[in-house]
Amino acid sequence: MLFLSPAILASTDESIAEAARIIRNEGIVAFPTETVYGLGARFDSEKAIEKIFVAKGRPNDNPLIVHIAHPDELFVIATEVSTIAERLILSFWPGPLTIVLPKTPVVPKMATGGLETVGVRMPAHAMALALISAVGVPIVAPSANLSGRPSPTSALHVREDLAGRIDAILDGGDTEVGLESTVVSVAGKIITILRPGAVTRDMLEEIGQVQVVSPFFDPKDTPTAPGMKYIHYAPRAEVSVFVGQAIKNLPDLAHGLQQQGAAVAVVAFEDTLTEINNVTVKMTLGGRGRVDIAAKRLYAYLREADQLSVDHILVEGIKPEGLGEALMNRLTKAATHVIGG
Ligand code: AMP
Ligand code: MG
Repeated sequence: MLFLSPAILASTDESIAEAARIIRNEGIVAFPTETVYGLGARFDSEKAIEKIFVAKGRPNDNPLIVHIAHPDELFVIATEVSTIAERLILSFWPGPLTIVLPKTPVVPKMATGGLETVGVRMPAHAMALALISAVGVPIVAPSANLSGRPSPTSALHVREDLAGRIDAILDGGDTEVGLESTVVSVAGKIITILRPGAVTRDMLEEIGQVQVVSPFFDPKDTPTAPGMKYIHYAPRAEVSVFVGQAIKNLPDLAHGLQQQGAAVAVVAFEDTLTEINNVTVKMTLGGRGRVDIAAKRLYAYLREADQLSVDHILVEGIKPEGLGEALMNRLTKAATHVIGG
């Protein structure tokens, strides 16, 4: 595998050009965006798209997101862009917002998990935009992790999961947001949040009326966002998320479990961590009130805790407001138990 180091990227555009060459020739390359690392293929090659599903072990009905370098490219991908969708684009692109639109015939159904709609986004990341421009056509990309693992927020995470399975990794350092993009669909004046992210409910309410789809999928239903029915993260450890008043019980519970001989990792805000000693590992989400920092660190911690083979991961939750809504959505999906909810 070709691993392109950050040093090469910092000084030259050659690695981006090389990555673009690989993608143009129907290879697959992991690249940084502001949310998480993506695994990219040219949007119009079924052969390359197939490689993405195989490399990730991704179920083939879970659609990929089309990444574009300029809003004009949208017209290659989507048949119709409503007034509200246009306003969303003007307000939030480039940025962590994926908009689901009716697809054109040039978008293979293999990319959309068989759907007639396609999720599109213009990432706010110089390297991602340079790569897409250099390829010359949009790039389809899901997150660059093995299916069922936390999304990668560094090139190292990509390497852990996909070394030997993909053609190259472009290293752009740690990602800025650390959680996957907000996914919305638009019908008339109503914006439906299919997956919360860094473009929050409040921000979307500036544009139209907002409704939110429950993160929990009832197997009897057809999922609105197909990814919903798949667990995002299947840790070896038991993950308990503490919310509200239950947070004050977290230190005692951690000590109790550790005394019983279990290996315990605690992922919590600084204040809570100072009350905890004698656990296998403590990981700080930073100061309470800086949800952006917590979001940025979460996936790396979940990976680390798993690598340390702990039995229990105890996580301090937060209010599901603003970016906290996205953070709690990912946490409750990863959780075995939500305590206090
Ligand atoms: P990932 O890039 O791995 O986070 O996966 C992309 C996710 O975007 C999918 O799992 C879906 O939840 C969502 N998505 C992509 N395209 C569509 C679509 N056409 N309709 C609804 N949701 C979509
Ligand atoms: Mg994913």
